[in-house]
Amino acid sequence: MKIICIGRNYAEHAKELKSEVPTEPVIFMKPNTALLKDNKPFYVPDWSNNLHYEGELVLKICKQGKYIDEKFAYKYFDAITVGIDFTARDLQNKLKDKGLPWEISKAFDNSAVIGEFKKLSELENEKEISFSLQLNDAVMQKGNSNEMLFSFAKIIAFASQFFTLQVGDLIYTGTPAGVGPVKPGDRLQGFLEQEVVFDFEVK
Ligand code: ZN
Repeated sequence: MKIICIGRNYAEHAKELKSEVPTEPVIFMKPNTALLKDNKPFYVPDWSNNLHYEGELVLKICKQGKYIDEKFAYKYFDAITVGIDFTARDLQNKLKDKGLPWEISKAFDNSAVIGEFKKLSELENEKEISFSLQLNDAVMQKGNSNEMLFSFAKIIAFASQFFTLQVGDLIYTGTPAGVGPVKPGDRLQGFLEQEVVFDFEVK
């Protein structure tokens, strides 16, 4: 399986990082060794002093496809959860400044936290899915799929022009404003609508 991630998909988050609001989806990938699941703890790597959480809605692909038309995109994913795209912001900024690929700041081991998946059909409204991220019981990020610059359907149509989507692939759909650093001892909880889908500790 592969992990496809979307950058700058919420205008307010692009602003907080002083990034331009993109005119097409910004895409990067993580390998399967990036996955961190079942509420296992996250260990802050010793090569970063500014490790950020980015809470995001994550889709699970249920059908293989290439050049998927936007209007059929909903047939290609059937489950959703909240995850974290952990980012070594210090490393990312250093690489960005040099115009270099920032892969290692995003795709390192355990950088892709994944919560418990819910069937899309069980949600009240598939077009307006709310989520939030709590750090030590304080809400740090709140988002709704209706605030995304590029919808689930647009992301799938765009990404599948380049990458064949396969069953089990994950798509991290971008983070809203409110990203920030973590340190050992922190507790992170992800909420899909009102339900906790992950709850783990930073070590
Ligand atoms: Zn992200």
